[in-house]
Amino acid sequence: DRAVCAPLPVLGRDVTVPLVTGGDVTYAALDYAASAPALQRVWDDVAAYAPYYGSVHRGAGYLSQLSTDLFENARRTVAEFLDCRPADQVVFTRSTTDSLNLLARALPAGCQVFVFETEHHASLLPWRDARVTFLDAPRTPRQAVETLERALADRDPHGPALVCVTGASNVTGELWPVRELAAAAHAHGARIVLDAAQLAPHHPVSVRELDVDWVAFSGHKLYAPFGSGVLAGRADWLTAADPYLAGGGASRKVTRREDGGVAVEWHESAARHEAGSPNVIGAYSIASACKALTEAGFETLVARERRLIDTVRAGLAEVPEVRILSLFGDDAPRVGVISFVVEGWNSSHFAAALSAEYGIGVRDGLFCAHPLVRTLLGADPGTQGECGAPEAAPGEKSLNAIRVSFGAGTPDEHVERFVRAVR
Ligand code: PMP
Repeated sequence: DRAVCAPLPVLGRDVTVPLVTGGDVTYAALDYAASAPALQRVWDDVAAYAPYYGSVHRGAGYLSQLSTDLFENARRTVAEFLDCRPADQVVFTRSTTDSLNLLARALPAGCQVFVFETEHHASLLPWRDARVTFLDAPRTPRQAVETLERALADRDPHGPALVCVTGASNVTGELWPVRELAAAAHAHGARIVLDAAQLAPHHPVSVRELDVDWVAFSGHKLYAPFGSGVLAGRADWLTAADPYLAGGGASRKVTRREDGGVAVEWHESAARHEAGSPNVIGAYSIASACKALTEAGFETLVARERRLIDTVRAGLAEVPEVRILSLFGDDAPRVGVISFVVEGWNSSHFAAALSAEYGIGVRDGLFCAHPLVRTLLGADPGTQGECGAPEAAPGEKSLNAIRVSFGAGTPDEHVERFVRAVR
C-alpha cells in the first residue's frame, strides 16, 4: 500500500474505523476537496522544528531569529511554488476564504467585481461591498470566456475592476480556462484573482504563465494542517489599502499626536496585513508541502491522479442510476473531485452508508457552492435546497449531491473500494 502511494505518503493511513456490519476497516479518506490529509513529510518537518520555535520579528534571541528566518523563507518558497513575479507579495492568511476577504477589503474605490455564479461561496460572497456582476454558469470553457468578455465590454472602462475565478471547481473538479479569462480581463483593463484552493494541490500554478494578478489557496487542502493560507500577487492594491487587522506587526511607527490621538505609519510589505503574532508553524508547513509537491513532481502526481479519476468515472459509469455532475462534459480536463447523484437514493443516506458499511469518508450536500449545485441538479437556482435541508422525496429531483475526492497519497484500494461500494 505504501509503495503504491510513494513518493508522498500522508498521515492517517493506518486509522481503522468500526463498520455497522461488524469488524474494523482502514479508513478511506475520500474527501480531499474539503481537507486533505497532511503529508508525512510536513508532519516530520514540523516535528523537527517544534522544539526550536520562537516569536517572529520581535526577539533578539537565537530561536526568535531562527523562526523569523523560517517564516520569511516560507514566503520565498511559496513565491517559487507559484512562480510569482519578483515584485509580488506573499501574504500569509488563515485560509482561501480569509485571503479573498482580505483582497475584497483592498479593492480601490468604485471597483467593479465580476464573478461566475458557479464559484464556491468563498469566491462568491466577499465582494458584497463592491458593485458585483454575477455571471451565468457557462456550459463550455469557451462560453466562460465569451460571457466574461461580454460583461467586461459593458463596464465603465475607466474605473477599476476585478474578476474572481476558480482554477478547479470544488464540485465538478473541472479546470477553468484561467489563462484565457486572465487575457480577457486584462484586455478590458480589469485585474483577476485566481481561487486556487482546489487547483494548487493537484496542478502546477504559475502566476506568470497564467498571468493572473493574485492567487489564493489554503494549507489544509494542500496537505498541510489547518489555520494557514496564502494571498500572493500584486503589491499595489494591498499597499494602498488599510491593514486587514490593526495591531502590532502591521505598524512601523506609532506616536501620540498633539490632539491626543495616535498617528500610525503602517508597513508597506506583506506584514501590513499580518498584524498580531503570525502562524509561523502554519506558514512553515505550507512551505514544507510546497517543497514536497515540487520534489515529487506534478507530472508524476497528475499522471497517477488521472488513473484514479479514470477508475472512479469508469466504475460510476457502470451504474445506470448514477449521474455525474458536470458543466463542461466528459472530455473536460479535471482534478480528482467528482460529484454525483444516485437515482432513488437520498444523497445524505448514501454518504452515511458509505461510511457505516465501508469505512469510506465522502461528503454530501451542496458543497458551499449552492447556485452551481442547484444548476447542475436542474433545481430552481433561486430557491430550492439549503445546507441541512430535508432531501427530495422519492420521485423528486435530488437537492443534494455526493462528492468523492482524492489526491496524493490515496491508495488504489480506497478508490476501488469506493467503486465496489457504489455498485
Ligand atoms: N474555494 C474553493 C474552490 C474551495 O473548494 C474552498 C474550500 N472548500 C474554498 C475556496 C475555501 O477554502 P477555506 O475553507 O480553506 O477558506
